[in-house]
Order: sequence, then C-alpha cells, then structure tokens
Amino acid sequence: MASITLSNIVKRYGDGFPAVNDVSIDIADGEFMILVGPSGCGKSTLLRMIVGLEDITSGDMKIGDRRVNDLAPRDRNLAMVFQNYALYPHLTVYENIAFPLRLAKKPDDEVDRLVRDAAGTLELTEHLDRKPGNLSGGQRQRVAMGRAIVRQADAFLFDEPLSNLDAKLRGQMRTEIARLQKRLGITTVYVTHDQTEAMTLGTRVAVLKKGLLQQLATPRELYENPGNLFVAGFIGSPPMNFLPAEVSGNRVKLPFGEVEIPAEKAKAAEGKGLLIAGIRPENFEDASLAAGKGESNGSSTFRAPVDVVEWLGNETYAYIPFEAPPEVEAQLRQLEQDLDGEAMRTQLVISLDGASRITEGSEAEIWMDASKLHLFDPSTGENLT
Ligand code: ATP
Repeated sequence: MASITLSNIVKRYGDGFPAVNDVSIDIADGEFMILVGPSGCGKSTLLRMIVGLEDITSGDMKIGDRRVNDLAPRDRNLAMVFQNYALYPHLTVYENIAFPLRLAKKPDDEVDRLVRDAAGTLELTEHLDRKPGNLSGGQRQRVAMGRAIVRQADAFLFDEPLSNLDAKLRGQMRTEIARLQKRLGITTVYVTHDQTEAMTLGTRVAVLKKGLLQQLATPRELYENPGNLFVAGFIGSPPMNFLPAEVSGNRVKLPFGEVEIPAEKAKAAEGKGLLIAGIRPENFEDASLAAGKGESNGSSTFRAPVDVVEWLGNETYAYIPFEAPPEVEAQLRQLEQDLDGEAMRTQLVISLDGASRITEGSEAEIWMDASKLHLFDPSTGENLT
C-alpha cells in the first residue's frame, strides 16, 4: 500500500486552457479520496495522470517515495476499476479474477489461493464458475474489484464506477464499496460527479472546478464550512439557498426582513457592502415548531409569503420567491452556470417538519438558525464567515 502525492500538477491538452491547473493533493496511505466536480472540471484527467494513461505537463507525482511521472502504467502497481468493469464475457468469474495473475505467469497453486481469498472477501465463492453475463451488476462490480485485489496493488482507482447502474443498485454498491475499502484498508482514489457518493464514501473530498482545486476537506467540513460559493452550492441537496444580504451591526438584511446574526459573523462582514448570504434549507423551521432549536445561538424569525408547499410526510418543502438586486444577480447567474444550473436562485427553498401546517399563498412565520448563515464576498466568492 502507499500514499499518493500530487504536487502542482498541470495538464494542458495542446496549447489550450489547462484541464488541470496547479493541483496539489496529498493522499494518505489507506485513505479514501474523492475527486468530485461538474463535467469538464478535470477529475478524470487527474485520475488518468495518476494511473499513467495521460502525460503530466508539469508538477510532480509520487507513489510512496517514488516519483512516477515517467513510469509506465504497468510499473505503477495501481489497479483501475473501470465504469464498464472490463470483464471478459467468455471467462468464468474465477478466470476473470485470475487474469492478471495468469498474465504475470504465477504458478497455479498461488493463483488458486489468491483467487479464492479474494472471492471469499468479496462473497463471490459460490459464483466462481459462472460467466459475467449471468451476474448482477453488483456482482460484476465485485469481480472487477477482485481482479484488483489479487494484483495486490498499492491503490485502487475508480472512475465513476456506478454511473451505469440504476438508483437502487447504485445505493447498494456504494455501501458495498465503502465496506470493502474499510475492510481492505487500501488507498483509494474515486472520481465522481455525484455529491452523494462524494459525501458518503470519502475520508476526504477534493472539489474541482475548471481544473482548479476549490477545497480539499472532510465531507463534514465541506458541508459545514464551504470555502467559497461554488463549494457551498455544489455540496448539499437540495442546494444551499443564496440570497442578497446587507450587514449592519449585528443584523443582516435579507429580502424578507432583518435577522440577527452571531457577532463574529457580523464582524467578518463589516463594511463589505452588499454580500451573498448562504443558508441551507434545513436551517429553517415553521416558527410554531421551532421551540428548543437553539434560540440562544443567533436565531431569528421572519414573515414571508409562501407560494408552493410540498408535503413529503416526514418533511415539508416550502418555496418563497424573491428578486435579487442587479449587484449580485450576475454572480448568482454565473454560479448557476458553474453548477450546471442545478441550483435554484430566485426562490428560497426551506425544509420544515412534516407536522407543519403552513399553507400555500400564506404569510408564514419562519424561524431561521442564523448561526448557520454564511456570508460570501460577491466578487471573489470567498466565504467570509
Ligand atoms: P466528465 O465528468 O465529463 O468526464 P471531467 O471532470 O472528468 O468531466 P475531464 O474529462 O478530465 O473532465 O476533462 C477536463 C477538460 O479537458 C475538459 O475541458 C475536456 O474537454 C478536456 N479534455 C479531456 N480530454 C481531452 C483530450 N484527450 N484532448 C483535449 N481535451 C481534452
């Protein structure tokens, strides 16, 4: 096993805009590192450079203590698990798993021991005589991982391994990969554009946008303390709400009225003019149900017109439209573009307890946990709080 160190990695295709732009990431031995970002952010390019399928334009790449920039893929001892599993349909599960060992001309008894060990770990023992065509998607995935395990590779590399599966199987496989990775303790780099996979699988997550590393942190840190507008909007579903905000004293003026915020947040935003406030849907509640939800750490209530209510049983979504002033509208539009239009920018989306009796077309009294409010600089996108 090994650590993987990327230092100031740049990749240019031709003389164009760098697909990966000065990215540095230290992946610890045994760590599960996620590379995540929207289409075109450079995550696959980065993975392909790690495995050796793509030249590095500049920067240093190390596996353990060894600089590998110029090492052929087969000499890097990494195992790539592809999206389509790359299994041989005419070979049995046993022979598919044994394939790299046969290539390396290992003796039969060693092949047998390694294949049976891996099959045991992956709960494939009873399927060893079957062909991939007779397996479920999840079992095929495990065969592909088995092939990586028998090679005793220093690290596993996954490129969107679950994107061809239906939602249910994707969920199951996600749990399975997490369990296996923990059991094997093998360094893993996993590329995805799916933030649920990123949040649930990663020890740490590297968020990329247009070739640039935006933030490298644990899932919790990304969620609770996003470094900028992009990370804040990318992580979380439904996404964080972004609103125009003006701070004066310890109060912040939002489109619906003023709320009080903790002094240290107010101080960080002092004298910065019009800002973009960010707050997650779950940081709101129907005021009549909010008792005991942390009144003491900077909470506030306001009245707002609710135009749509969606009751889901255990929770209720309420939508409150607003208009953004032109000073921040351009930034919000850019953000929407960067996020592939995933975020909704001209309405506040709030998630309330399913017991809420809020109705469409009413002025509702809403409680907001202002201690969870973020304030972003509209010109740089930086989180000031
Ligand atoms: P996706 O999720 O769509 O696969 P990605 O985040 O993995 O996207 P990359 O595939 O790494 O992104 O691509 C990063 C940038 O490099 C994109 O702008 C892409 O068009 C460009 N690119 C990727 N491969 C090549 C290539 N072989 N030649 C030229 N440009 C390329």
